[in-house]
Amino acid sequence: MSTLRFHSIKESLNRKPVKIKEVEKRSTLFGENVFNNTTMRQSLTKDAYTSVLDAIDKGSKINRSTADQIASAMKDWALLKGATHYTHWFQPLTGATAEKHDAFFETVGDGLAIEKFDGGQLVQQEPDASSFPHGGIRNTFEARGYTAWDPSSPAFIYGTTLCVPTIFVAYTGEALDYKTPLLRALQAVDQSAVAVAKYFDKNVKKVNASLGWEQEYFLIDSALAASRPDIVLTGRTLLGHSPAKGQQLDDHYFGSIPSRALAFMRDLEKECMLLGIPVKTRHNEVAPNQFELAPIYDEANLAVDHNSLIMDIMDKVGERHNFNVLLHEKPFSGVNGSGKHNNWSLSTNTGVNLLSPGKTPMSNLQFLTFFINTIKAVHQYEELLRASIASASNDHRLGANEAPPAIISVFIGEQLTKVLEELEGVTKGKLSPKEKTDLKLNVVGKIPEILLDNTDRNRTSPFAFTGNKFEFRAVGSKANCANPMTVLNSIVAKQLIEFKSEVDTLIDKKDMKKDDAIFNVLREYIKSLKDILFEGNGYGDEWQKEAKKRGLSNNKTTPDALKARVSKKTISLFEELEVMNKVEIQARYEIEVEEYTMHIQIESRVLGDIARNHIVPTAVNYQNVLIANVKGLKDIYGAGFKKYAKQQLELIQEISSRIEAINSGVTAMINERKKANILKDSEKKAAAYCNKIKPFFDEIRYHCDKLELLVDDELWPLTKYRELLFTR
Ligand code: ADP
Ligand code: MG
Repeated sequence: MSTLRFHSIKESLNRKPVKIKEVEKRSTLFGENVFNNTTMRQSLTKDAYTSVLDAIDKGSKINRSTADQIASAMKDWALLKGATHYTHWFQPLTGATAEKHDAFFETVGDGLAIEKFDGGQLVQQEPDASSFPHGGIRNTFEARGYTAWDPSSPAFIYGTTLCVPTIFVAYTGEALDYKTPLLRALQAVDQSAVAVAKYFDKNVKKVNASLGWEQEYFLIDSALAASRPDIVLTGRTLLGHSPAKGQQLDDHYFGSIPSRALAFMRDLEKECMLLGIPVKTRHNEVAPNQFELAPIYDEANLAVDHNSLIMDIMDKVGERHNFNVLLHEKPFSGVNGSGKHNNWSLSTNTGVNLLSPGKTPMSNLQFLTFFINTIKAVHQYEELLRASIASASNDHRLGANEAPPAIISVFIGEQLTKVLEELEGVTKGKLSPKEKTDLKLNVVGKIPEILLDNTDRNRTSPFAFTGNKFEFRAVGSKANCANPMTVLNSIVAKQLIEFKSEVDTLIDKKDMKKDDAIFNVLREYIKSLKDILFEGNGYGDEWQKEAKKRGLSNNKTTPDALKARVSKKTISLFEELEVMNKVEIQARYEIEVEEYTMHIQIESRVLGDIARNHIVPTAVNYQNVLIANVKGLKDIYGAGFKKYAKQQLELIQEISSRIEAINSGVTAMINERKKANILKDSEKKAAAYCNKIKPFFDEIRYHCDKLELLVDDELWPLTKYRELLFTR
């Protein structure tokens, strides 16, 4: 075994779980390091406190003197907890989080110093953020960017830093981050959902979108990970033959959690508790060393922040436990990849989940209204929804017989399908009193009972209704949820506006009663939804053909999928809702296209290097061993040696032809890279990386993986799949 491999495995096998002190009950830790409502109530005057609540609920402005007061209370609280620095915490378009720490400490002359943090510092900062991606926005406008406090996500302390969640915008107002459009989309869905919910309950004043994400990840011992340049540089393995035992026995799924992993999880959960992230479930996933973490769902903006934060914290806690946390969607070929299901629903200030059937026929009609409108929104904008989850790494997963396909469809289960069929049969125009009663009692009224025993689950669907929420399953494990959440909430907002206007027209122009009008509009919608509803196997080839007939998009690669981000339809959607303007949309598109190119470019370089610098020399070394052996046999047996050297001679030949294939593959790949790199047009460049360069990955890998099976294990330089996945 190569020395590096040997030492890495030895180091990893010697590790014991890191001992962590079992502390108080989780519930007493919860939110300990968050400047939450309770803390604010205790430390702010009534006026200041109300002013923050108004900012959260109604988006109203906080004046300077109140901001000063809040900042001062925040600072006192943070200092008591041992914080020394503060930062504006934001989510630039890299997808990661960003922070620049400043000390509270300030000198005031005469050798004196104080801890200072005022309203100005709380509300606005100007990070020197010229290296964050901006897709040309800041160049175009020659404007700098600034961060601004988002009071709807509470400040928190991580380590010794007070982190203030902020948005990141250019001075000209364009969003330079993920959070700003999300907040605008949430506002849009709030307004349009309130308007529709008022048909059913006049007291509804606010509708919140909720998000419950389920984060999947792999844990790999850090020594083993460090021995693999591909994992270090790209977050995934670019080579490696599948182990003799993979996940076929399904013995990892929900199995007992290995002790080292458990110690990591406990530690992580404690950090989450302190930060008010309500993590609830943890379990093994399908693949070896794959796990899942899920919190109780929360208001979407907060849930997105929590997910961004947790991806960062996982890394830090992983370090303490000598683990590399792999968030990549497909770290290992041949074993399941990771996703991040986004569970989504809408709930009112009156405590009603609009996607959950209620106790009365009227509340069930409300449920159906939101349920059907959501499906209609997905149908209208399926291509944009697909684009919202597109990335180089998620391309490996979508359609790979383990994750939803690149075709967006909606699964609702047999029972609700029946309900929709019955509603479709409703008489056009005004309903007779008997028909209405029948409908309310026998169709709409029965929904809660139906759902109680609705055990329907279809794991192959990218967008499934699961009892009281929709589950968007195609989101990648590495993704920032803000992107899909911005799109989902925007398209539903737009659809609800349309619905309201259609219903109002029937009420005003056709003199219909409210519920007649609602039934009528829903009936027409149901007729149009047949193409997006799909209950069958999303993994099958049949579905690809069927979906094509239905006119659904099937954009398999990121460059193809992303085009929907800048279509006329998308631009008018976002402009109408004031979620993003054309410049913001275009800038994001540019960034995503370029990011794709860079991703594939890096992978291509790393693969070329490993193949040439690790694999080929190792194969040559082994071939030399074989050659020496053949020469020895010839010495002993003379002319008759071939009888004894048959295998060796075949191996020598096979190694030569594999080396030849690898070398010519790498050379051809590099040539394609050179051609692509001189392309000025970013779209064409991304397409070249996708269609001309990426196909070499599999070809080169194929021969390297074959060599792995031939070459003496002692010589093989890279830690193998069985070691990466099964060493504990
Ligand atoms: P699964 O079977 O897919 O693991 P669970 O029922 O355990 O699903 O829930 C998964 C996630 O869905 C959890 O994060 C949970 O908090 C979230 N969730 C539950 N109800 C809602 C809701 N109404 N809105 C949004 N998310 C929800
Ligand atoms: Mg789920």
